[in-house]
Amino acid sequence: MRPIGADQKTAAQAGGVSSDEGTRPMVLELRKVTCAYEVGRAAISEVSFSVREGEILCLLGPSGCGKTTTLRVIAGFEPVVEGEVYLEGHLASAPGVLLPTERRRVGMVFQEYALFPHLRVVENIAFGLRDLPSVQRETQVHAMLAMTGLTGLERRYPHELSGGQQQRVALARALVQKPVVLLLDEPFSNLDPDMTRKMREDLHDLLRRTKTTAILVTHDHEEAFALADRVAVLNNGCLEQFDTPEAIYHTPSTPFVADFVGQADFIPGIVENGKVVTEIGEFPNQVGYHGGARVVVMIRPDDVHIAPLANGATRILARQFRGSENLYTIGLPSGQVVHSSEVSTSVYPVGTPVELQVIATHIVLFEQDRVRPPDR
Ligand code: ADP
Ligand code: MG
Repeated sequence: MRPIGADQKTAAQAGGVSSDEGTRPMVLELRKVTCAYEVGRAAISEVSFSVREGEILCLLGPSGCGKTTTLRVIAGFEPVVEGEVYLEGHLASAPGVLLPTERRRVGMVFQEYALFPHLRVVENIAFGLRDLPSVQRETQVHAMLAMTGLTGLERRYPHELSGGQQQRVALARALVQKPVVLLLDEPFSNLDPDMTRKMREDLHDLLRRTKTTAILVTHDHEEAFALADRVAVLNNGCLEQFDTPEAIYHTPSTPFVADFVGQADFIPGIVENGKVVTEIGEFPNQVGYHGGARVVVMIRPDDVHIAPLANGATRILARQFRGSENLYTIGLPSGQVVHSSEVSTSVYPVGTPVELQVIATHIVLFEQDRVRPPDR
C-alpha cells in the first residue's frame, strides 16, 4: 500500500478556461444574492458568481437546489431579497430594484422550449425581431437558420419537428436577438438520451461560433464537465464551489461536491507527526491540521490501482464492467470500502486478495465530522 505524493499543480493550470479569460469583460455578476418565494424561506442564499464574455457557465446541483430560481433572478422574473445582480456593469436587481426582463437583453431557452405552436419555424425565430425592417429581419433569420442547421424546415410548425429540431428553433429564436447572456434550463431533459451527446456537441459548437455568453442549468455533472468553462455547484440554495470543471472534480471544496461530481471514497485518518495516517497509507497533511485531528482523505477510483496477491485481507468485493473501464469495489480489513478503476481488460474474480497502490495526484482532506456516513 503505497500512497505516492501530491501533485501541487492546480486544476486551472491543467486546462479549462482559456488564457485571455481574466481580461474579457464581465457580463454578469451576482453578489450575495438571496431570493425567497415565501417570507423567511430562501430558495437561494447569498449566491455569488460572475460570468465573462464568451464564457459558458454551468449551474450544477440536485433537483430543488435553486438552479431555476437563479436563472429566474438573472432574467428578472424574480426579485431579490438581498444582494445585487449586475448585467454589463449596470445594477439590474437589488432589494427594491428590478430592471424589467425586456430591458435586460437576456435570452432564455426553457426546458419545454415554449415555441409558439401556431407559428412556423421562420415566424418563431423572427418573433423577437418585429421592430426591424423586413429585409434586415429576413437576412438575420436566414443566417440563423443556416447557423443552427434548420434550413429546409422554415415552413414547418413546431408539432412537425423532432425534439432536437424544436430545441434548435428555441435556440435560434433566442440567439437571433443577440442576447447579452443566454440562459438555458436543462436543455437536454426532453430529448432521447441517445441524442443528447450529439446535441451537447452541437450546442457547444454553436455557442462558441456565435461567441455567446451562456449559463446552462443541469443536474448531470458529466454534462457540466463537457460543456462548461466554469461550474457553479449549488446545494440546498447555497453555492458550494465555483471553479473550473477540473478543480471541481480533483479538488472539491466540500464533501457534497466531492460526492456529487463522481465516485468518491472518504478514508478516515488521524494526523500524526505532520502526516495523515490511514488504513491505506500515509498522506501529506496539506491543510495543516493539528496533531491528533480526525480527518478523512477523499479518494477517486482513478487514483487507486490494484494488483493481485497470493493472500491477504484486502479483497475484491465486486466488479462493474463499464465498457472503457472496470470499476472494482474493494473491501479493506476494517470493513471500509474503496473503489478502483482499472482498464477494461483487467479482469479479476470477486474474492481475489489484492494490494492497493494509491497514486493520488490531488490530496483532498476534510474534517471527519463534515462527512456524512455513506448511504451504501
Ligand atoms: P431546481 O431548478 O434546482 O430544481 P428550483 O429553483 O426550481 O430548483 O427550486 C428551489 C426551491 O424553491 C425548491 O425548494 C422549490 O420547491 C422552491 N420553489 C421553486 N419555485 C417556487 C415557487 N414558484 N413558489 C414557491 N417555492 C418555489
Ligand atoms: Mg429547475
